[in-house]
Amino acid sequence: MGNVFRALIVAVAAVWLAAVARAEGPAFDLKPVGSGVYAAIDRDGEAGANAGVVIGKDAVLVVDTFYEPAAAEALLTEIRRLTKAPVRYVVNTHHHIDHTAGNAVFANAGATTIAHKNVRDWIKSENLRLLGGDAITPERRARVEALTAPDAGYDGTVDIDLGGRRVRLRHLLGHTGGDTVVWVEDAKVVFLGDLFWRQAAPNLIDARVADWIATLDRMAKLGDGTTFVPGHGDVGTLADVQAFRGYLADLSAFAGEAKGDNAEADVLARMSAKYADWSFFKSLGTKGVGHMLAERAGTKRAPVPVPDPTPFD
Ligand SMILES: [Zn+2]
Repeated sequence: MGNVFRALIVAVAAVWLAAVARAEGPAFDLKPVGSGVYAAIDRDGEAGANAGVVIGKDAVLVVDTFYEPAAAEALLTEIRRLTKAPVRYVVNTHHHIDHTAGNAVFANAGATTIAHKNVRDWIKSENLRLLGGDAITPERRARVEALTAPDAGYDGTVDIDLGGRRVRLRHLLGHTGGDTVVWVEDAKVVFLGDLFWRQAAPNLIDARVADWIATLDRMAKLGDGTTFVPGHGDVGTLADVQAFRGYLADLSAFAGEAKGDNAEADVLARMSAKYADWSFFKSLGTKGVGHMLAERAGTKRAPVPVPDPTPFD
């Protein structure tokens, strides 16, 4: 009887310790997706978005820095456990605050932050708009004002040498007009930022859906063996990217077919019939219908299109 009781105590303690570890652990799950390549997947919205880590012989590159600076601190701690190489680079996949709020954490640790040149221009003004525009709360305004802009803005393509490993940055169109794809070719891993939401309705506030679909089509040539890390949702495959492309294509097609005063309700009903179980559908999915109709009507405020797509090779 004593042994059974002791075993029960041990089992209860183990469950309790696991619960404590979860509550106090980082706001993300650090998942290996290749040799020296990790996806930091947001845990129930605690970090605000996903991030990534690419480790070379001489340097580490971090992809995005979360909405919660505490999560960025936790990621830096995890990186210190994995390698002695310095965190030399941060890449912001776009300007949205849920991917840039922890920039200062890595800047203070000596990293240089790189992004498409539009991110430097938009990080304050467009995040104020993202978080409420004229109706923004003082707390949110303070968070936007505290953002650290990238040190360097690029356009087109950049390759970065981490020592025995090349990371390729490519500016592609769709989510904001300032999006970067981070391609770790030797590991067959692509960090798509918010150009990819896995089983989640995307934020279309700054989007051009027509360009976005074309960008996702270009991922097909990378093949089935490639791992795609989204900005929101779990690590995905090419099939997951294509399912997300299907969401955008359906939204665009339904918006093209909708007519009259009930257009918004009609499109929402058709989307809901297929995608109601996707994350954020009630919030971002609903808002996205209005954005899509505006894009089709030519009234959407959106980034300036780039005439020649960046080569992805
Ligand atoms: Zn995001």
